[in-house]
Formats: sequence, C-alpha cells, structure tokens
Amino acid sequence: MLDWKDGQPFSNRFGDVYFSTDSGQEETRHVFLQGNRLAERYAALSEGESICIGETGFGTGLNFLCAWQLFEQVAPQGASLDFFSIEKFPLNNDELRGALALWPELHMQAEALLACWHRRVPGWNRWSIAGGRVRLTLAICDVAHALPELLAGCADAWFLDGFSPAKNPDMWSETVLANIARASHEGTTLASYTSAGWVRRGLLQAGFAVDRVAGFGRKREMIRGQLNAAAVSRPRGKTPRTALVIGGGIAGCAAAHALAQRDIDVILIERAPQLAAAASGNPRGILHARFGASDNPLHRFVLAAYGHALALLDEVVPVDGAMRAECGLLQLAATDAEAKRIGRFSAQEWPAHVLQTVDAARATELAGMTMLHGGLWFPAGGWVVPPQVCARLTDHPRITQRLACEVTSLERTGSGWCASGEGFVIEAEQMVVCCGHLAKNLSQFKAFALQAVRGQISEIPATAASEKLKSVLCAEGYCAPAAAGRHVVGATTTFDDAEADLRDADHMDNISKLKVFMPTLYQALGTVDAAQLSGRAGVRCSTPGATPLVGEVESGLYCSLAHGTRGLLTAGISGEVVAAAMCGQLPPLPQSLLEALAPLPRTGNKGQYAA
Ligand code: SAM
Repeated sequence: MLDWKDGQPFSNRFGDVYFSTDSGQEETRHVFLQGNRLAERYAALSEGESICIGETGFGTGLNFLCAWQLFEQVAPQGASLDFFSIEKFPLNNDELRGALALWPELHMQAEALLACWHRRVPGWNRWSIAGGRVRLTLAICDVAHALPELLAGCADAWFLDGFSPAKNPDMWSETVLANIARASHEGTTLASYTSAGWVRRGLLQAGFAVDRVAGFGRKREMIRGQLNAAAVSRPRGKTPRTALVIGGGIAGCAAAHALAQRDIDVILIERAPQLAAAASGNPRGILHARFGASDNPLHRFVLAAYGHALALLDEVVPVDGAMRAECGLLQLAATDAEAKRIGRFSAQEWPAHVLQTVDAARATELAGMTMLHGGLWFPAGGWVVPPQVCARLTDHPRITQRLACEVTSLERTGSGWCASGEGFVIEAEQMVVCCGHLAKNLSQFKAFALQAVRGQISEIPATAASEKLKSVLCAEGYCAPAAAGRHVVGATTTFDDAEADLRDADHMDNISKLKVFMPTLYQALGTVDAAQLSGRAGVRCSTPGATPLVGEVESGLYCSLAHGTRGLLTAGISGEVVAAAMCGQLPPLPQSLLEALAPLPRTGNKGQYAA
C-alpha cells in the first residue's frame, strides 16, 4: 500500500521513500540514466535495433517513464526499448495515478502506463506502448522468482532500485546480484543510488567492476558498474525486413500485428477468400480466462495471456457494445467438482480486478437474473466479435494480405523461406505458421501432435426474460448476453472431427448444457427448437495437454498453433513470443513458460482439452 509523507510517496512497510525527496525525477536522471550512459547509447542505436533495461523495483514507474522520455528524445526512428521490471507490491490504480501526478511533464507517458496498468495480472505482464516502440515487461512477483526466469544475457543496463539495502535486504541478496549478472552480457552496465559496502562486494563477486561516483542531492555517493566477462554473449538477432505469416485466423493476425509493430513488412497468407474464415469466424467469442488455482505452466500462461489480451484489445477494438463488450463473466460452480475447484481460489489472494469469488446472491446481482450457484467473477471478462478483432489487428500499412492462397509446401531458400501453392510462390526472410490443424499438411509439422477439434455454437433468439442477462455465463458451455436479439451459446467439442457443417445434434448439445448448468437462463429462453436455430461450426486445433505450440521450429521458421478454445486470449501474447524471438528481443514470458510452449513434436494421451 502506498503511504505519503511530506507530499512524497512513502512505504510504511519498508519505512523508506520511493525516490529522493529532493527531486525524484532529477535523481532518476542522475543516478540511473546518466549512470548507465543511456543518452549516448540510445542515440547510437540503429534502425531495427533495441536496447533492454532491467530494473529491480518498479514502484511508481518513475524510472520507467524517464527512461522512455529520454528514448523519445534521442533514439533514432525504428529503434525500440525493452524495459523489464519487477514489483512484488504493485500500487493500485488510484495510488499510481496519484504518485505520477507529481510529474506533469511526464503526463503523456503516465497516461499510457495507466491505460495498461488496470490490466495487470499476477506474474508476467507485457504491454506494447507507443505503437510498439516501447515494450514494458513487468513481473509482478518476488524478485527472487522473477530474475532466474530471465533469458540469460538479455539486459544491456540495470537500474538497481530496491528500498535501501538495510531496510529491504531481499532486493540486494547475493543470489539476486548473481542472477542479475546471469541475465547480463559483457558490457552490461548498472547503476544504483546506494553505495552500501555489501552491495558493492556482492556485485564484485558477481563479476561486475564497480565505481563510486558523486551521488544525487544529499547522497554523497552512488555506484556504477559494468560486467567485464560473462558466461553468455548478448543474445541479439537482427530484425528481419520481411516475414510471411501463414493463416488468417486470430493467431496469424496477432502474429502479423506483432511483427508489423516491429517495422517488419508482413505478407499474411490465407487459404480462404477472407480472414477469420475458420475457427476465428464466430459472430461472437467470449474472453474466458479459465485457469486453475494450482500453479502449472498452462495456467500461468493463460493468466499472462489474459492480461496481455485485454491490453491488446484496448489498443485495437473499442468497447462499444457492437464489436466488444466488457460485461464481466461468471464462471458458475454448477457441479461439485467445479465448486471444489473454484473453492480453492477463495483460499488465495487474487486482485479484485482480476477475479473474485462470489456467492449465489452476488452472482444473481451480477448476472441480472437468478443464479442458483455462486462461482468466480471476472470483471474484465466479456465478448468480442472475432472477425472484427482480426480485421483491426491486420489494419496496418506493413501488412499485405494474400487471400485464397492455400500453401502446400514450405522450403528454405538461400535468404530465408518460401511458401508455395497452386500458382504462387512467396518468399520472405522468416516465416510463421499459424494455420491450426492444417499445419499437419506441411512436411515440417507432420510429426506434431496437432488434433482437429470441431466446435459448434448456436444462436438462440432472446426473449424479454433472457434479455435481462447482463454478463457472460460459463459452466460446461457458455452463454453471452443478448446482442442484436440473439444469445450466442457454445460450444461443442468433438475431437478428430474436421468438418464444419451445422448439426442439429450439436445445437441440442448446447441447449442441454444450458438446461443442466444454467437452468434459470434455460427457462428464460422459453421453447427452443434446435432445427430452427442458426449457428456456426469451426475446427480448432489442440494438442495433448492443451498447451499451445509457440516459438521457433527450426532456424527462421516459427509457429503459433494449437490455441484450442482460448485463441482470443492466447494468440496475442503468442504473437509477441514469436516476434520477440525473431528479432532477438526480450521475450514477454518467463523462460519456464517458453520451454513449456516450445514447438517440439509432442506425444501423449489426448484429453484435458481446453479445461
Ligand atoms: N523504481 C521505482 C520508481 O521509479 O518509482 C522505485 C522503487 S522503490 C525504491 C522499491 C520497490 O521495490 C518498491 O516498489 C517495493 O514494493 C519493491 N520491492 C521490495 N521488495 C521486493 C521484492 N522482494 N520483490 C520485488 N519487489 C520488491
């Protein structure tokens, strides 16, 4: 919690100030920006190059905003900034707004940060700001958990900004300093406002050469350091000029968006005559962050993806009730097993803006109609029109669409990769395959355990009673509030079925789930005749264990596949994973998750689909 003392942010928990009471902004410039020679290093970047700053202690974000402001002032066009920071005790929205109001000259940057801040989730967050020129990766967790998850050698400069070593020793431990060295390369610099002897000794032991120089304001000394020899070299690639993306669904559109934001010319190839023609073509899709109370890689991935997806949607799709609604989502404890699973969440501390456990009375209020069960409430949940999301993501001058082109083979060329099919051959430096289960038809993906999973939604006419529904309801199946006189209800799951015909039996399946799990809504809908319903079927792609396949398959060939029913959430962050890897930039996710997503041929039992 943020406290104030003499008009400055203060932490009662640690008994320390967030920044110098003389002038926080001047201190940041003196200690961290000049201490790392950032003005000259920014100015020396060339087009397509990026610089990565790491920070211990995000606090009010002042250092980030100042580092970004200087970047805008001196870095050339086409260069980009990665800022990685760690914060165990994030400020709430109002606290952050209050703290940043101290710096009117950083107003523009502060507003951009605040626009993302309310989307934060526990764990790793990645936000692209300023049209993608600045990427903020914020690990909301203990420093001891975050640092070992960084890519070795990734940071070019460090801001060591925990509270004073005497008051906040965890931020300056030997292990922390050794992990900072591990995430550094030869030539990585660091700066800190402290010159405490044991911090200096710890840094020396970790391999940094350390100098004491004049401090800011009343501080006599500060430190600057440089890593002279490192176990790994700087893991920098070169941003390619061109890339091919195969597949015009949400995964391909999000990958194309992430690449275009890095000034890469993208050709997006789709076999259908329009984008979002397959699994991403439903008239509405729900934003359902179904993650578990236990800590496993898939659930950590879905959580990070959720925060990212909301911020990405904020960038491209307005919450206008036509393309997108943020009406909240209730995940009902409608079975004993689900009640038990949901019960585990109430024993954990979740930020209320991410999820809350609610009883039946509160669920009734939130849903706008009687609910027999409580469950989990996701205030930021809701629905979008997926084809509109795809259209918005690809509305970029660097993206060219090649529609009605079915790729049948991929080949390596002297300068990159080429995709060919009947009557076309298209080349680029790098390639991303995002065409779901159809990737199996390409020789490079034959061995991948990709499963086709058919899913059908039903569109049920709203009644006066059902129009009362205010939020999305989920149990086995889901129902969205009425829009244009209809509820979208879904979805069926049929493994190893790649047909997209509309089936009455599937409508009946959707309706029967409503009857069992959402009986009050079922009654409100009145008599529903499956034979009269409209709907849509699509084929999604999954893997055994339901973890998507995202990353590099072989040199210059990447994929973002097997998003199952969660593509609306997971496609965005996956596009970032691919684009960052392609450009040799800081990954948006911890290493343990990147390993879990790594596109290796996987085997195993089928099942656990989507849950
Ligand atoms: N750089 C910040 C700014 O620009 O406002 C000021 C950082 S403040 C001096 C130190 C921050 O470290 C606090 O926000 C505090 O919550 C955070 N912190 C303290 N212990 C931590 C830990 N073990 N892991 C992660 N963050 C921690």
